[in-house]
Amino acid sequence: MRILLVEDEPMLAKSLKFQLEKEGFAVDLCNNGDDGLHYALEAVYDVVLLDRMLPGIDGVTLLKELRTRGKNVPIILLTALGSLGDKIQGLDAGADDYVVKPFAFEEILARIRCVNRRPRTWEESLTFSFGDLQMEPNGKLLKGPGGSCELSKREAELMEAFLRNPGQTLPRETLIVRVWGPDADVEAGNLDNYIHFLRRRIRFVKSTLKVTTQRGVGYRLERG
Ligand code: CA
Repeated sequence: MRILLVEDEPMLAKSLKFQLEKEGFAVDLCNNGDDGLHYALEAVYDVVLLDRMLPGIDGVTLLKELRTRGKNVPIILLTALGSLGDKIQGLDAGADDYVVKPFAFEEILARIRCVNRRPRTWEESLTFSFGDLQMEPNGKLLKGPGGSCELSKREAELMEAFLRNPGQTLPRETLIVRVWGPDADVEAGNLDNYIHFLRRRIRFVKSTLKVTTQRGVGYRLERG
């Protein structure tokens, strides 16, 4: 899962990034609102952790800007202001959740899990693509130069993870959490089976892309 962290307090930013990465998240860190807006608009994230008081554009303005431009990524506001009015203002601006500083890391983790469990209506119109492959998450249809085929739910989730992170090695744990959820009891061979199914689908639509095994780490979708 990819997280954008927009936080200007160096100690807090560093420690949050470190702890999130330890949990297996990929984290991009911005220390001001302008960079935060740029990153949030350019890349695809699963969650944005957004400080409210920032140099440059402040958190609430950034949030409104993203929503105005149709970015529906889940956003959790981090803030030192804890009054009811501020919470309402943040939620009205389009935040999915709100955490008051100081917070325990476990609380942030719980909130991230929670916003990710909500139905992902914002993704329904999104098409993921890389090279000669295309996938519509809604119809779970995988398209390549030689035709198309329908994916099962788990195959589609796996494919989505690869298409969101093309050319990047995705650790086995990340893929398992992505497809089966954080609390699932999954045997290691299950993931390998699904990778095998996915490779067959990719060959079936005559794509030149390949899912390669990164020994001891995970898998990567790359150009053949
Ligand atoms: Ca701040």
